[in-house]
Formats: sequence, structure tokens, C-alpha cells
Amino acid sequence: MATTEPCADLERHAPTIVLADGYARLPEHFYSRLGAAAASAPRLIGFNHALAEQLELGVAGWREADLAAVFSGNRPPRGSQPVALAYAGHQFGHFVPQLGDGRALLLGETVDRHGSRRELQLKGSGPTPWSRGGDGRAALGPVLREYLVSEAMHAFGIPSTRALAAVSTGDIVLRERPLPGAVLTRVAGSHVRVGTFQYFAARGDLEAVRTLADWVIERLYPDARAAASPYLALLDAVIEAQARLVAQWLAVGFIHGVMNTDNMAVSGETIDYGPCAFLDHYQAEAVFSSIDRRGRYAYANQPPVAQWNLARFAETLLPLLHSDRASAVAVAEEALSSFAPRFEAHWLARMRAKLGLDTAEAEDGGLVERLLELMQRHQADFTVTFRRLAHAAAGGGMPREPFADDPSFGEWWSAWQARLARERRSPEERCARMLRTNPWLIPRNHRIEQAIAAAEKGDYAPFEALRAALAQPFDEVVAAAALAEPPRPEERVLATFCGT
Ligand code: AMP
Ligand code: MG
Repeated sequence: MATTEPCADLERHAPTIVLADGYARLPEHFYSRLGAAAASAPRLIGFNHALAEQLELGVAGWREADLAAVFSGNRPPRGSQPVALAYAGHQFGHFVPQLGDGRALLLGETVDRHGSRRELQLKGSGPTPWSRGGDGRAALGPVLREYLVSEAMHAFGIPSTRALAAVSTGDIVLRERPLPGAVLTRVAGSHVRVGTFQYFAARGDLEAVRTLADWVIERLYPDARAAASPYLALLDAVIEAQARLVAQWLAVGFIHGVMNTDNMAVSGETIDYGPCAFLDHYQAEAVFSSIDRRGRYAYANQPPVAQWNLARFAETLLPLLHSDRASAVAVAEEALSSFAPRFEAHWLARMRAKLGLDTAEAEDGGLVERLLELMQRHQADFTVTFRRLAHAAAGGGMPREPFADDPSFGEWWSAWQARLARERRSPEERCARMLRTNPWLIPRNHRIEQAIAAAEKGDYAPFEALRAALAQPFDEVVAAAALAEPPRPEERVLATFCGT
């Protein structure tokens, strides 16, 4: 009689990816070890082949069924120990001492083609010891939204977690209504959040804070090791990364939606896409998230919120900054005071580039502010307006839309033209550069919603079309023109939801 069952034997030889342990080498109280829950009928609905190649995962030529088995969590990778991470966080200003990966599982890590370590994480693969009341699952909609938006952010050149795979599970998840379940595989340099530091600091576990800080320095900010005070250098590096990141968000009209400290990665990668949105018409106080009733995370409020989160990060590092508490606070406060000027500098650099300015003049900030005021007054579409200005920079006349005959816009236009005259670049060159800076296509909220609604009915064509077009968001593609257009009034998305 045969002693091995044929199925078990097949499964043993079934292809899977090979990953290394990374975070799972840290002390046991940093995470829980576990496997993913089984998906009953996994089906591949999106796979990022270009990213898989960069990661050198060796999956080229695999059958879709094998990709679906691995990236649903049904077939574990070889060589690593999957873990769900411990973290805490301030949610809308209130401290929650224990959150953790309630619906995520860090599979392990790999070294990509460029020699960088990249972590692979499943999102929505089942409950973990950190799930609290939740089911550990993800619905199809939020998985597709994160896939589209995180990949668009990457295509814009903005640091972000990436989307490697989306798999539908064949299981139903219960939200306000029953929804198809799905699992997203995301890739990041690190999943350590401000809230990870808070988890240990809140328990008075200084040893763990130091271990975590050393880990982050080694992984993400190796230059800090050589600094006179490595932990101050770490704080400084994270402040810089966030100042730059939030400036980049504003420059494409992005609203994260839930900038809780558990949703801020110390790597400076955009992480945890929930009720995020992009501005259609410019509105500084825009809020889309249905749970953000007071506008804490409104578009223009993101820089001060980032600074607030960084202050919470600095607090966790205080014992490492100086043995004397008052001196540590003074050091941290000085570092934090650099956030606003750093943010301003990054923001102005981005906005100058958007307006085709290579050189810096003292009045440039005012020029940008006046344009934004006009855009707000005329409900001008953020993306379309900058794109029109880019085309106009080649020597075309003043665009009439959407400012109609507002003489203030005429004045602004004259000031911009006078300012451009003091730049060296030719109009053609300037236009070309502006067209590489100002995206033609953003993941419009209404198009994302339409793609999700279609996918829920089994039609993935709109998702595919959006995904393909967003990979080259600066190229004007006639066939994708409808995706670039602002929503008609009846198409406007007024609120976004977490969907968790
Ligand atoms: P997020 O909305 O991603 O910022 O998540 C906030 C916290 O809630 C994290 O600790 C998540 O792991 C947890 N969470 C969110 N959705 C679920 C879910 N469906 N099941 C279990 N935990 C969840
Ligand atoms: Mg989160």
C-alpha cells in the first residue's frame, strides 16, 4: 500500500516562492507567528509582473492557479516564518495601546534586483491574534482600490507600498452587506510604523524601543549609524522623509484619509490606503473619508498632522536621545521644529516644478498661492488646470477655462509669464518638463468606484483599463481619455469608506 497520498505529494512539489525571515528574527514579543487562513476558491484577479521581476521572485511562466495559491496564503512560501506585527497607535488623536496586524500577515522578505530588501505582506488573509472583533478579511473593493492607488503613487514617483497581487478568495465577507473577499499582496521596504514604536514605549519597554530603532537604522537609514547621536539622526531622517512625502501628496492632490500614527510608516512610504481620495476640483479643506467628521485629515491639514504624528514618534525615542529628560525633550523639540521649514521647502520645490520654474525667487510662493486661491474660487480641477498650464507653457495663449473672464486670472497669467521670462529654458523644453511633472491621469475617485462596482459583478475590464493606463500617468492616451476627465456632477464621489 502506498504510504503517501498522491495529493499531499503533489502539494509538496507545487511551486512556491522562497523568502527569507526578516522581522521574524526580532524578539518574540514583536509579533505573533501564524499561517494564513485558507481561501476556498482563490482566483488571480491582478498580478504585477513587472514588480515580480524586480523582486526576482522566479514566478515567470507560472500558471495562474499557482500564483493564486501562493498569493491567497493557501500555499506558504518556503524559508520564512509568517508573522503578524504588534503595534499601537493614535487613532484620530486617541491613543490605542494595542492594534497590530489584525488582517495582515508578513510573509517574509527578499532582496530585489537593486539590492534593496523588500517585505511581502498579505492583507486580508484571515484573523490573527491582533484581530480584536474583526474577521481578518478584506473585501474586494478596498483591495482593488489599494492596488490602483498605490501603483499610481509609484508611477507618479511618490514613495509607496506596492501592489504585487490581488486574489479573490471565493469567500464572502460580511460588511454592511455581503461582499466578495480578496487578498492583496503588498510590498514595502518596511512595515514599521510610528505606532510600532508607540507599542513598546507605552509598555515602558525601553529595550524593545532600542532594538526596533537599531533595526530601522540598519534597514532604512544606515547613514544614521555613523552620526554622533544615531537615534537623533533617525528622528531627523524620519522627519525629512515625511516632510518630503506629504509635500509630494499635496502636489498631486492626494488625501490619505486616515493619517493615524499606525498608518504612518517610518520608511516614508505611503501606507494603508483606506478611504483615500484625489482632489477633483481644488478645495484646500476637502475631506472624503466618511469617518473623518471633523476634517482632522483634510487635504491641507496633512502637513500639521504629519508633524503631530512625528511628535508622537519623538516621544517614544526620548530615553534614547538623552539620559536627562529635559535635555531629551529639548533635543526632540529642536528636531521637530525643522518639520515646517522642510515641508515648505519640499512643497515649494514641487509647486515650482509644476509651474515650470527651475530657479527660485522670493515671490514664487505667492505666485503659487494666488493660483490655488483662483482654483478654489472657480472650482478648477486640480489635475486638468496644471496640465493646461503645461500645454500653454509651450507658447500657447492664456487658457480661458475654467477661469472664464476673471480679470484676477489675467493678472496671475501676466505675472506667471513675466516670471517665466526670467527662466533660461526654451518654452518647448519647459512644456516637455511640465508634462512629465503634472500627471495627465490620476486615479479619479469615480473611476475607482466604477471599477469596483463592475468587479463585484464579475467584470474586471474597467479595473484592467484603469490599471494599464495608470502605469503611464503622464502620457496622453486617446483611448483612455474618458478616464482622465473630471467627473460630471452626478458622478462625483462625495464620501469614501474604509470598507474594513
Ligand atoms: P486600518 O484601518 O488599516 O488603519 O486598521 C486599523 C486597525 O484595525 C489595525 O489594527 C487593523 O489590523 C485592524 N483591522 C482593520 N480591519 C480589520 C479586519 N477586517 N479584521 C481584523 N482587524 C482589522
Ligand atoms: Mg492601518
